[in-house]
Amino acid sequence: MRGSTWRVAVIGAGPSGLCAAQTLLAEGISVDVIDRLAAPYGLVRYGVAPDHIKMKSVIRALREPFTQGDAHFFGNVMVGRDVLHQDLRDHYHAVVYATGSSVDRSLGVPGENLDGVYGSGEFVRWYCGHPDLVDLDPSLDDPNAVVVGAGNVALDIARVLAKSAEELRTTDVTDRVLSDLRMSRVRDIHLLIRRGPDAMKFTPQELRPIGELANADIIVHDGGLLDVIDVDGLERRQRQNIETLRTWVDRPPEGKPRRIHLRFLRSPIRMEGDGSVNCVVAEENTLKNGQIVPTGQVERIDAGLVITAIGYEAERINALPFDEAAGIVPNEAGRVVSAGSAVPDVYVTGWLKRGPSGVIGTNKSDAAETARVVIEDLSASRAPKYPDREHLRKLLAGRGVRYVDWSGWLQLDAEEERLGSARGAERIKVAERASMLDVACRRTA
Ligand code: NAP
Repeated sequence: MRGSTWRVAVIGAGPSGLCAAQTLLAEGISVDVIDRLAAPYGLVRYGVAPDHIKMKSVIRALREPFTQGDAHFFGNVMVGRDVLHQDLRDHYHAVVYATGSSVDRSLGVPGENLDGVYGSGEFVRWYCGHPDLVDLDPSLDDPNAVVVGAGNVALDIARVLAKSAEELRTTDVTDRVLSDLRMSRVRDIHLLIRRGPDAMKFTPQELRPIGELANADIIVHDGGLLDVIDVDGLERRQRQNIETLRTWVDRPPEGKPRRIHLRFLRSPIRMEGDGSVNCVVAEENTLKNGQIVPTGQVERIDAGLVITAIGYEAERINALPFDEAAGIVPNEAGRVVSAGSAVPDVYVTGWLKRGPSGVIGTNKSDAAETARVVIEDLSASRAPKYPDREHLRKLLAGRGVRYVDWSGWLQLDAEEERLGSARGAERIKVAERASMLDVACRRTA
């Protein structure tokens, strides 16, 4: 494959897209990475919690395509608006979509649309400084907040709400988010978990630090379940989680400013409020053969902020088929499949391909699989009408699209680091779209 002039477009500059780009580049393929935002890194930038600073160091590996290979970045270019799928087909031998799962799954209970109820994607993107959510202004005035779900996203949200502004000062959150969190009156954060302690999706490495927070006590409401669970038949991860919970269950609260409550066997059935949410009504569950069985017993939890962290589905891409039930693009090993046949030269990777599961590292093998099938298929691909990058640049310029190239992103990157140094942080994100573009497109002497 080396020395060929194959050209592939990767749509989405998050971890899955950049891992795919890396594998394709290693085979000498020319890759353009197109993202609707002016900044790369997708979920690493807009999904990893701000206080997970070490986890963000994966960026050092993700940026390699742009420093070492024939990869070009086209930021602030939205497929479906600025360029169409057909334009991509006209410029590339193959197109790999890696646009993730950005749509919050809904609980489907009454009151879910009240003000003060947010999906986790929305809330996380807000505190991560995503340009679409800078004006979210979430309600943080009530002492009680409810987070629904027992996955790592629910834990991230609970932790961010529980930490003091001083603890978050050295992260990359914007001054505006930091100020909102500083003014937050949230004191009790209730995690509503529909199953028992042996079925949580938290990873042990994420659960443990919740018990060591300087600003929050952890309170386990297990109704005696922890005493009766037999850990022998459980997976290692679940056993470790149970061990962690058992060390917390009898630990008296230390009177820290905030409290995180783990409430098991509770499903929200309704949210109440007059315009804005003020209460979550939850039903107690029992489990029979692993199935949730509601008991009819209800509990009311006052809360002025509710975040549902119950998973995501992909945003539909107009030109591609969609599996509504799974919330993904149907595919076989990354080859997009429609009515039982592969759609020629169109591929998916990451959450768009497999659904919202796994950690950042999972994308490496997943993207390698997609890249492998792209490479296998290239020699049979249709030759593009305009097989040169310059043509795409002219097309974008002709449509008035202010696209950001890698050097533009590096300007924005440097500006964020400069802003951070004034607050003792590694960086502070520039969040407003116009400001991002102003910095990234600024002409340097
Ligand atoms: P997740 O791990 O799938 O957890 C979703 C949670 O929502 C589960 O506890 C699920 O309960 C619950 N849920 C689903 N539908 C519900 C309903 N109708 N009512 C009540 N609860 C409901 O998803 P996630 O937390 O969004 O995370 C997505 C992926 O990103 C995961 O692979 C996660 O590990 C990863 N991630 C990793 C990190 C990290 O490594 N630091 C951080 C964030 C995210 P059931 O189990 O009963 O279905």
